[in-house]
Amino acid sequence: MRVAVIPGDGIGKEVMDSAIAVLEELDLNLKFEFYEAGDETLAKYGKALPDETLEACKKSDATLFGAVGETAADVIIRLRQELDAFANVRPARAISGVKCLYPGLDIVVVRENTECLYKGWEFEIQDSAFAIRIITEKGSERIARFAFEFAKKEGRRKVTALHKANVMKKTCGIFRDVCRRVAKEYDDIKFNEYYIDAACMFLVMDPFRFDVIVTTNMFGDIVSDLTAGLVGGLGIAPSANIGEKNGIFEPVHGAAFDIAGKGIANPTAMILTAAMMLRSLGFMREAKKIEMAIEKTISEGKKTPDLGGNLKTLDFTREVIKNLQKLEEV
Ligand code: ATP
Repeated sequence: MRVAVIPGDGIGKEVMDSAIAVLEELDLNLKFEFYEAGDETLAKYGKALPDETLEACKKSDATLFGAVGETAADVIIRLRQELDAFANVRPARAISGVKCLYPGLDIVVVRENTECLYKGWEFEIQDSAFAIRIITEKGSERIARFAFEFAKKEGRRKVTALHKANVMKKTCGIFRDVCRRVAKEYDDIKFNEYYIDAACMFLVMDPFRFDVIVTTNMFGDIVSDLTAGLVGGLGIAPSANIGEKNGIFEPVHGAAFDIAGKGIANPTAMILTAAMMLRSLGFMREAKKIEMAIEKTISEGKKTPDLGGNLKTLDFTREVIKNLQKLEEV
């Protein structure tokens, strides 16, 4: 199987090195092919997402993506749309050994990935700017169904829809109505809904009331950074963009230029993202092993600075690989 690898900009490159080192430790029939995209690519070739990179992502079995900076709209958002990777799955699971607001928390944000304000339909007329928010019945239906099917497959009990249908009556109205309709087909899974603003308060004060969250594109982007914060931050938050065909796997975090080049980025999010990719390619056991190696390393107190430790990216990666090797021997 072929994996298109896009390290990107900033810490994207640093954490990708770690993820590839971990993946190469496993004896998998995967071919990693590296491609360029992002701010540096734009400066070099005048194009943030070269055609060659886009074609490679379309033809590969999966894309493993690091992070890009200012060119995110032209690169990752475009990739999601071009590959019709309509569901962005962002788990927020507390890892033992990571000090966080809510130990034991385990929720998943399922974010619609192709519509909403992130479609990028923005215009300027004289001194005003306009953005078009598009929410379709078809798009809402497939993300709602995805969320319920995901909940069923993962043995989860509740799906919560987040919207703001009291203000955005038409766009959020469609999303809300479709979620309500789809929910009726799933007797075993509870369904409820909140307005997005109230949901943010409940997420901070009582996040255990949530299990699977389904929401539109921009709300999902914002709320998934919030849920990452509940369990220890962006350094440990993985994500998968799933479509009918090949997925794109990327950590929730961006290029984080403030820490780029210092060798202190936490590669956990990227490594857990690689595990999500393995799972989607059918390598269940290997994905589990990676997750166990990460948990073991962190619970031994070996951590990067964002989690209160003093290990550099490469040292932490080495420790994860050591633990992975021990698991391989079992
Ligand atoms: P974007 O808007 O594309 O999400 P950004 O550069 O604005 O990206 P992020 O990269 O998402 O912001 O990260 C916000 C902050 O969180 C960073 O500035 C950094 O301090 C911290 N951070 C993010 N990822 C990591 C990581 N892997 N390890 C350590 N700290 C991180």
